[in-house]
Amino acid sequence: MLTYNLHTHTTRCLHASGEDREYVESAIKGGVKTLGFSDHSPYVFKDGYYSGFRMKPDELEGYVKSVLDMKTEFKNDIEIFLGLEAEYYPEFFDAFLELIRPYPIDYLICGQHFTKNEMGDAKASGWKTSEKDVLFEYAHQVTQAMQTGRFTYLAHPDLIKYREGDESENEAWRIICENAKKHNVPLEINLLGIRDHRHYPYAGFWKIAGEIQTPVTIGADAHSPDAVCDNASFETAMLIVKKYGLKYIGIPKLINPFGRDKK
Ligand SMILES: [Zn+2]
Ligand SMILES: [Zn+2]
Repeated sequence: MLTYNLHTHTTRCLHASGEDREYVESAIKGGVKTLGFSDHSPYVFKDGYYSGFRMKPDELEGYVKSVLDMKTEFKNDIEIFLGLEAEYYPEFFDAFLELIRPYPIDYLICGQHFTKNEMGDAKASGWKTSEKDVLFEYAHQVTQAMQTGRFTYLAHPDLIKYREGDESENEAWRIICENAKKHNVPLEINLLGIRDHRHYPYAGFWKIAGEIQTPVTIGADAHSPDAVCDNASFETAMLIVKKYGLKYIGIPKLINPFGRDKK
């Protein structure tokens, strides 16, 4: 049974449904003991670029307040954490950190939805590609994300949709898995992928994760309240754990994104 979930969205990202408190109520009802909110983070781009699948910078304050209020209100029933899901965009990452620094963010998860800096000639990770350059760009970018030491885990590491069945593919998966092990960043089996029959979780990826024995966790990636306790998909994920002999760690240790900046 799913007793924790650190991957939870809210309607601020414009592609989720339900009131914030409905996610908490659903989690409590479903027996979840630890719930982390990790909505798609605001990001500071340039040239007026609009990113349509994340909260806007001016919504961050309301998001933080809502989660903190629920943390207090429901403290006897469930443990709530305040997080964000963010990409590693090298050009804008520092500005992103400054944007969130004033808030008591407990953790970040990395979900690399685009390569490069999202703008311009970047590629959406979930779009099918046969370009090796895009595959390796993704692998290197999530590696850089893990190297920052600011992310608690890597969400849907197998999001990049390169499915050529060639050696490049395995090489890219090895880069991601070896770095995840080296930097001790758990990789997430994503329950939304299972629920929606998406192209992930991808067998070819998890086979290599099993060989390398990288730490593995599970995330609901809830975009609706019922999904925070999606036990059917959780059972499927546990079959993947078993099939590939994955090093499943359960709930990851939360990394304070600014912990290492403190004196
Ligand atoms: Zn989303
Ligand atoms: Zn997500």
